[in-house]
Amino acid sequence: MSVPEPAGGEEVKQAKEVEDAEKYSFMATVTKAPKKQIQFADDMQEFTKFPTKTGRRSLSRSISQSSTDSYSSAASYTDSSDDEVSPREKQQTNSKGSSNFCVKNIKQAEFGRREIEIAEQDMSALISLRKRAQGEKPLAGAKIVGCTHITAQTAVLIETLCALGAQCRWSACNIYSTQNEVAAALAEAGVAVFAWKGESEDDFWWCIDRCVNVDGWQANMILDDGGDLTHWVYKKYPNVFKKIRGIVEESVTGVHRLYQLSKAGKLCVPAMNVNDSVTKQKFDNLYCCRESILDGLKRTTDVMFGGKQVVVCGYGEVGKGCCAALKALGAIVYVTEIDPICALQACMDGFRVVKLSEVIRQVDVVITCTGNKNVVTREHLDRMKNSCIVCNMGHSNTEIDVTSLRTPELTWERVRSQVDHVIWPDGKRVVLLAEGRLLNLSCSTVPTFVLSITATTQALALIELYNAPEGRYKQDVYLLPKKMGDMRPFSCHMMSPSIISPAMSTSPACICLRLMPT
Ligand code: NAD
Repeated sequence: MSVPEPAGGEEVKQAKEVEDAEKYSFMATVTKAPKKQIQFADDMQEFTKFPTKTGRRSLSRSISQSSTDSYSSAASYTDSSDDEVSPREKQQTNSKGSSNFCVKNIKQAEFGRREIEIAEQDMSALISLRKRAQGEKPLAGAKIVGCTHITAQTAVLIETLCALGAQCRWSACNIYSTQNEVAAALAEAGVAVFAWKGESEDDFWWCIDRCVNVDGWQANMILDDGGDLTHWVYKKYPNVFKKIRGIVEESVTGVHRLYQLSKAGKLCVPAMNVNDSVTKQKFDNLYCCRESILDGLKRTTDVMFGGKQVVVCGYGEVGKGCCAALKALGAIVYVTEIDPICALQACMDGFRVVKLSEVIRQVDVVITCTGNKNVVTREHLDRMKNSCIVCNMGHSNTEIDVTSLRTPELTWERVRSQVDHVIWPDGKRVVLLAEGRLLNLSCSTVPTFVLSITATTQALALIELYNAPEGRYKQDVYLLPKKMGDMRPFSCHMMSPSIISPAMSTSPACICLRLMPT
């Protein structure tokens, strides 16, 4: 089997190429390939068996967008700096004598368990699914290899999958975002987890490889966030796909990679596009951003929003969330939009729709949420007033032309973690947050409840793909359903009646959005 070669460049070019018309279509709908291509990460180096110290510490080089955006402030008791010994060189065992994991420090498991228990309190959909389905074990026999952020919230997902009968091996999709104590708690509970905060690039691929390349164990499902795991399996172990029943992919990046494979006729198993499912788009994108935009801005700049002039570029789900939050705090909010419907929605919601060039001189804050690139250009940056704050909430770090700021006439001053002052020759400073990467994932935490909705969507997608009868899904990318009635039953034999109560039987979305555990 041939493996798609990564194109050059580091960043995903567009995050909005999935056909809009099909965004909310139903399970049985095969989505069309996107019009534009994404670029893969730089050619991925294979890991070395014994990394050099420099290799371990060299964290600056980006692997892919999803690998480097981080939930950096997610509560973590330790970081990579407290211990110079690489987890790869440590011999650790959990209390049951197993060493089938590689984490920073297994002794942190107790702290991690508390974090997981706190997360469980606000992840009622997932806990509800766990309680309803654990008798039936719809994932019995499933061997899931996963690559996601390893946080308290994803730990709840992983443990739910285990409770439903799956065996899991897990690595991190991001070199910075692992909560070490949570990884330790998972390892203590018997999950084969290979992840720590501050992995080098070499470590990153080593961890993925440890999850896939195991004597006597072969994955039959993939849960990916960003596509790096899927890419690794295609590249190194294509035979594994003979047993794989499906791929569930969360991120824009990974979904675009799947569409690329599909377009090239190289996708050899069915895949579920969780990113564009209604339960993710309408909650993660809208409400998560509504809450975390303020958190990210406050933590980095201590800015007062009342009376500030803010321009939000893009009035999709993310833009709507950002605008609503800023308006509620008394900011004067302008919107830029290229889609007339979204522009009209912004008007109807009471925002002034403008061209960026019209307001760029006067605004205090610029926020991009388009999924497009070069929305804020060097010309815009040149015209901003002193102390203007610039940040991005879209997936790709190319929305703001940060590269154009890396020129000799401009001085960069790191004033706080994730905060740079870019200084013009006349003394003007622009405050750039997270170097143009996703502000909320880089500088704040993300609400647990919203993550529960997305995680439940992922769990349902896994159950569906794992249990689907032969022929239901072809080697293509599928969207999750919005309503039960609009598609073939959502794995009826597995999901009803014990999992889906009569009251919920018309919509899998109800499961994801379930408020109260039973
Ligand atoms: P969306 O498609 O609903 O909205 C994007 C909007 O931007 C569209 O209305 C589009 O017309 C507009 N747009 C495109 N180019 C523009 C330009 N040059 N100027 C002005 N407007 C422009 O997408 P969304 O769900 O709002 O997601 C937007 C981005 O945020 C994506 O990259 C997505 O991956 C990312 N995202 C971020 C988070 C987060 O937590 N920060 C969560 C979900 C999604």
